[in-house]
Amino acid sequence: SALPTTQDTLPRPLNDAEASRLRADFPILGRSVNGTPLTYLDSGATSQKPTCVYEAEQHFYENFNAAVHRGAHSLAVEATDIFEQSRTDVARFIGAKDNEVIWTSNATEALNLLTYSFGNASAGLGGETARAFALGPGDEIVVTELEHHANLIPWQELALRTGATLKYIPVDEAGALRMDLAEQIVTPATRILAFTHVSNVLGTVIDVPALVALARSVGALTVLDGCQSVPHLPVNVKDLSVDFMAFSGHKMLGPTGIGGLYGRAALLDAMPPFLTGGSMITSVTMEKAEYLPSPMRFEAGTQRIAQAHGLATAVSYLSEVGMDRIAAWEELLGERMLTGLGSIPGVRVLGPGPGAARIGTAPFIIEGVHPHDVGQFLDSRGVAVRVGHHCAQPLHRALGVVSSTRASTYLYNTTSDIDALLNAVADVRGYFG
Ligand code: PLP
Repeated sequence: SALPTTQDTLPRPLNDAEASRLRADFPILGRSVNGTPLTYLDSGATSQKPTCVYEAEQHFYENFNAAVHRGAHSLAVEATDIFEQSRTDVARFIGAKDNEVIWTSNATEALNLLTYSFGNASAGLGGETARAFALGPGDEIVVTELEHHANLIPWQELALRTGATLKYIPVDEAGALRMDLAEQIVTPATRILAFTHVSNVLGTVIDVPALVALARSVGALTVLDGCQSVPHLPVNVKDLSVDFMAFSGHKMLGPTGIGGLYGRAALLDAMPPFLTGGSMITSVTMEKAEYLPSPMRFEAGTQRIAQAHGLATAVSYLSEVGMDRIAAWEELLGERMLTGLGSIPGVRVLGPGPGAARIGTAPFIIEGVHPHDVGQFLDSRGVAVRVGHHCAQPLHRALGVVSSTRASTYLYNTTSDIDALLNAVADVRGYFG
């Protein structure tokens, strides 16, 4: 047989015909808004869900519903199997081991789990093993100016509680991370380097290996916010070599109410718990409790069982389509958006220019028109986008704007969606002018 050529090894992007076929799995995409067919370009905020995801939840409720890890009855055993198989499936999807994925409500809770656990360690809880995570005056936590508030405020709070110092790697006026300054900002006092994989505003992909290498060189832990990368790019935590990663299910075709925290098993088992209560202990007396290892150590109380099953169904759908093909398709859609928007008079596309690695996300402002007005006008044409500061006020400040409009794609978008956006944007100034 013929040897593979470069052509064979490059991912073949989805195309319009395939994306159109996928749309049939997402009934909501068939609806109209304001008398026009819906053009959904707000997947960065939350993705739509294929029928198989909510049918999986319904199937669970109709056939297996029971509390997991408790009772010996058949339903409880079957529900536990489904719950743990879901963990295995999601862990495999990001390249982790089973016991390295903890279910949370979303990425926000995953990041708070970490900061509260480190805060507990800093307060002396968790015994000998937890000491490694204790922070105090003189210690530094480093984030970036790109962060979503979910990967900023929890670290601010942790710094306030422990006396540690919070520092950040700034962006330049275009929003590119100042990697040239990173080496001065990360010092031997840095204990944690927390950063996003993909900016939720700009869609830019951050150089994870460079930041991980820097953190390693000073012995700091790395925390990756995978909220905008896991849904759109092939992500493998072992290849990236990060210590922790947070992600949200609802942005990757899964249900709301479920997300996860990846952590290296040796670290998770040594950390103090965040929430405490039922299902996370080995023994309890009236005075004290001993805790199970990860993941149950961090899963107090009755869990999101149907939602975990829904998320596992979502990742199986994504894997079947192929993450590399999704990424390649969204790159094409993104280029079409960025080039198209950039050629409309009065439109300023935010973010670094051509050449920067980006997912299918296009942030922009229109001269003389407030983003909220832009959003409403686009909605009148059936085009759904996000407007505002996108939970990234510091980044907007650095870009010299208060708010912006963001169009973001997913596997079910077609070039006609992009053209609907571009046609509507081209009419905005005429309408408001
Ligand atoms: N981090 C990034 C980069 C995000 O885009 C988001 C959501 O917009 C979050 C964190 C928070 O996700 P969630 O609201 O699902 O917890």
